[in-house]
Amino acid sequence: MLMMCQPIFDAVHHVLPEKGPRDRVIFLSPAGKTFNQEKAKELYRDYDHLVLICGHYEGVDHRVEEYLADELISIGDYVLTGGELGAMVISDAVARMIPGVLGDAGSAATDSFYEPILEYPQYTKPADYNGWKVPEVLLSGHHANIARWRRKEALRRTLECRPDLLSGLKMTAEDKKLLAEIKREKEDQ
Ligand code: SAM
Repeated sequence: MLMMCQPIFDAVHHVLPEKGPRDRVIFLSPAGKTFNQEKAKELYRDYDHLVLICGHYEGVDHRVEEYLADELISIGDYVLTGGELGAMVISDAVARMIPGVLGDAGSAATDSFYEPILEYPQYTKPADYNGWKVPEVLLSGHHANIARWRRKEALRRTLECRPDLLSGLKMTAEDKKLLAEIKREKEDQ
């Protein structure tokens, strides 16, 4: 079964009677470009209203894609039963950048993918659990050393888990030094 286009056109025109340049109509589709943090940032920055159209069943009449949607977004190379979960993924990733949504305004900026780099490892109490210790430097209270350790471990984790991301990272001289250290440490192991 395919969804008809007329009720979808009517619904979108109802919520956006006069569509402006900061309104965006998105159709969730496996044919779309894959959603990522870059796209989340763009949607947050460039638009005030997002309308997310979710198909169901076998999908929707192609005229929705052709004449109503500004763009198609996929959330990955697999098929869902409906677009609703994809719409929730997009809403969550975009909304958490809006000031006031997160308790700590700075935390979105340190999350994985804010830059194309994964987040550094994080620890809580106790400092020693089953003999597995929190790294000494994090208990030192030395802010510069902690910042350096975090950057280095974020680079290490990215190199180990998602090396493909590093080609998109604008590296500082310090980053290059840290990566060289990590590579030397790996060779010495
Ligand atoms: N027949 C369609 C096809 O082969 O592309 C799949 C239809 S799917 C069962 C029903 C709806 O789920 C789609 O219209 C779309 O809105 C949504 N959907 C499924 N997979 C998706 C994905 N990877 N990303 C975004 N939306 C998806």
